[in-house]
Amino acid sequence: MAIRRLPENVINRIAAGEVVERPASAVKELVENSIDAGATRVEISLREGGKSLITVTDDGFGMTPDELSLAIERHATSKLSGDDLFDIHTMGFRGEALPSLGAVSRLSIVSRPPDTESAWSILVEGGTVSGPSPAAHPYGTRIEVRDLFYATPARLKFLKGDRTETSQILDVVKRLAMARPDIGFMVHDGARERLRVVPGTGDLLDARLDRLGAIMGREFSENALRIEAERDGVRLDGYAGVPTLNRANSMQQFLFVNGRPVRDKLLFGAVRAAYMDFLARNRHPMVALFVELEPRQVDINVHPAKAEVRFRDAGTVRGLIIGALKHALAEAGHRASTTVSAAALGAVQPAANPLPTGASGYGGYGYRPATPSRGLAEQGMAFQAPLGGAAPIPPSAANDIPENDPGTAAYPLGAARAQVHATYIVSQTDDGIVIVDQHAAHERLVYENMKRSLGETGVSRQALLIPEVVELDESAASRLAARASELAELGLVIEAFGEGAVLVREVPALLGQINAQALIRDLADEMAAFGDAFSLKEKLEEVCGTMACHGSVRAGRRLNAEEMNALLREMEATPHSGQCNHGRPTYVELKLADIERLFGRR
Ligand code: ADP
Ligand code: MG
Repeated sequence: MAIRRLPENVINRIAAGEVVERPASAVKELVENSIDAGATRVEISLREGGKSLITVTDDGFGMTPDELSLAIERHATSKLSGDDLFDIHTMGFRGEALPSLGAVSRLSIVSRPPDTESAWSILVEGGTVSGPSPAAHPYGTRIEVRDLFYATPARLKFLKGDRTETSQILDVVKRLAMARPDIGFMVHDGARERLRVVPGTGDLLDARLDRLGAIMGREFSENALRIEAERDGVRLDGYAGVPTLNRANSMQQFLFVNGRPVRDKLLFGAVRAAYMDFLARNRHPMVALFVELEPRQVDINVHPAKAEVRFRDAGTVRGLIIGALKHALAEAGHRASTTVSAAALGAVQPAANPLPTGASGYGGYGYRPATPSRGLAEQGMAFQAPLGGAAPIPPSAANDIPENDPGTAAYPLGAARAQVHATYIVSQTDDGIVIVDQHAAHERLVYENMKRSLGETGVSRQALLIPEVVELDESAASRLAARASELAELGLVIEAFGEGAVLVREVPALLGQINAQALIRDLADEMAAFGDAFSLKEKLEEVCGTMACHGSVRAGRRLNAEEMNALLREMEATPHSGQCNHGRPTYVELKLADIERLFGRR
């Protein structure tokens, strides 16, 4: 067996396998080159999801004919001046992208540096170079990648449909656009413009927030807290959404390290830790965080596509992110909590008169009025109505419930007596009390009901009086539309409504009154996280959880006596209803005997 050196062409093709995995990675390399070339505008256009054509045009500093010839050579780069791989200030540095693209596609480059007479072009096809030769082009560079992977048909087979490849490309460009608000970006997919952001002006922070709003949505820029912190030479900057602005997955969490978009588990973990006390476990905040540190403190050369980084001191970065997020949330949380305590005060105050001043009943609110004043009590009353969420069940509603109702008290879960914190149902049984977590219980009921109906009759649906149009981004809308028949089986009837919207016609009956908009958005997020490999039935638990979150019995919803009792009866009739989908109990029962023991009566 003879050992031989591989021809250059084969070496490049092998390297291409690592650097250029799909059209989106080609776009990433080309746009990063434009950014490194000091471009202020970058325009990308595609055919067939980038499979047949990608062009990237910039107004950067261009290349001379000599530079063109070098640029397509392996390991030729203008970006690494010395030999220090740990002192990198550009997006590129490996000198691999252009030769790799030249090996697996038909690559053509036309370029003209400022203040030069003419442009020059060079062509590489399956590794064979022609040029440079004179051409016509304004200042800047235009790179065309035709028939990507035509030279490596095996790779071609792994590519997804045009739509999927296009959305991956958009994702790549959006991340780069978030990192560089000073640069304008445009993406055209051959049929229409898919993204356009203009170069931001003025202050970096304003420009950045504006850009984040353009990409992540206005609701983010309007509900984001400014994050700013520094420790041991690591700077953190960016924005984090308030907890109430949350999503079904972590796809709206972005991290940038020295201007480079990265996917790093460190971010997700830190964000989860910081929001832990403010958000349900299955909800995820939106954040965009920018870490700046000395290039030597981070290794970006872990992966050919440079999508991962390794921090020299990951602990510091993690601690910095958690600390800064918690701090920002605490500041925002303080504002929120004053309104909550005002509501609590309002609820307690009217009842203050029969109680002696300083009665222990006040202790729980951490507030004890020194001299209860009538004015305050009246203000409190005024607060009660609009901020009902934290108030106990109003007397009128409590009166609906007959004090002695042996009929329902004989049921295992008893007769509903009150709803507290708009979250828990307290019911009276023959020999004790039951506290039900209404949301957990409802989620479980939805799940069990769907599982059963899927096997039998199908989930019963209710038609909306007026079908509702939900605007989404195009990939989310098409993802949902592609699953319309599966969703219909689950009781949700939707159809595509133009580009980037779906029409909701029917919803699962057992959800009651729902906000279809919010439900559809969350389902779209959820489906993006599943990927295409799973059927919704395989993910039934998650889907039901999401649906139940929008059903009429979610936490924070006031229920009347009838609704509460209906829920209790349904729980009794449903198997496994004693625990929620995450294994937590849906209700707790206290026997009278236990309560008596608690008070030393026994
Ligand atoms: P790297 O970016 O790692 O240096 P590439 O193969 O992507 O390697 O590019 C090789 C060289 O070609 C770059 O170092 C740069 O000098 C030049 N180049 C590539 N794209 C452009 C562009 N759009 N404008 C100006 N120069 C470019
Ligand atoms: Mg490059």
